[in-house]
Amino acid sequence: MWGDGKKCAVLLCFDFDAESLWIAKNLTTPSVISRGEYGDRVGVPRILSLLDKYSIKATFFVPAETARRHPDTVRLIYQKGHEIGHHGDIHENPVKLDVDEEKRVLITGLETLEKLTGERPRGYRSPAWDLGPNSIRLLQEYGFLYDSSMMGDDFHFYRVREKDKETNLVEVPVSWELDDAPHFLFTFSPVYFRGMASPSKVCEIWTAEFEGAYSSGGAFVLTMHPQIIGRYHRIKMLEQLIEHMLGHEKVWFTTCAEAVTDWLSRLIQNPPNPPLQKGGKGGFPVVAGLK
Ligand SMILES: [Zn+2]
Repeated sequence: MWGDGKKCAVLLCFDFDAESLWIAKNLTTPSVISRGEYGDRVGVPRILSLLDKYSIKATFFVPAETARRHPDTVRLIYQKGHEIGHHGDIHENPVKLDVDEEKRVLITGLETLEKLTGERPRGYRSPAWDLGPNSIRLLQEYGFLYDSSMMGDDFHFYRVREKDKETNLVEVPVSWELDDAPHFLFTFSPVYFRGMASPSKVCEIWTAEFEGAYSSGGAFVLTMHPQIIGRYHRIKMLEQLIEHMLGHEKVWFTTCAEAVTDWLSRLIQNPPNPPLQKGGKGGFPVVAGLK
């Protein structure tokens, strides 16, 4: 289903929130902020060393605030060949922004990351995994290739729709099940997350989801956070999962942008026919695309 006979794309994503996660919630006491510092000091080095060990490429979604605080770390991630995607300025929820403020956040993220790496980010992941009424239009206006904040599919990319019209923006779908935060994050303020799951339980869920992606020839999109997955017992679980996936033939560990580019090139070679089929639920058009 992918170029060169590859059977499944594995997209390991790391949302490098660092301190911005807490600053965005106005939690700035030293101990809370230190949880973000852990992401930079411990989480990212462990992740990079694991990715190096298996020569795997991944995607890091980085708020501009993280790039300002940890420029050397972000530059190192990029120099190792990983993709850097946009993840807000200070991890804002775009739903709460008016159009001018959302534009400012998009521009700040693009300029800050481009200045650091020399490359303009091509992908966007909303810090809230939600999009405001202007987001889809603005993401196209600012030239993004893909978004990765919605849950309209599990293993297959699709074109984002706006007001029932297909756009050029490609969706790399995410899910709470394939996110380390709901499983592992423990915090009691501002909301209670009980987290602390056993890594064997999470590995069981993630492995079964990978099998689904593999058998359907799709993409396995995993969202992780350095300050969460970076804990020793969890990074060992991630290594176990990587070894399991590498035990399958023709698995392609790559970046979101590369996978989207591959998907689009096959879509152009094999355009869906017809591109839009009327008669979906509630009269909405059904987008035909490659599966
Ligand atoms: Zn985030």
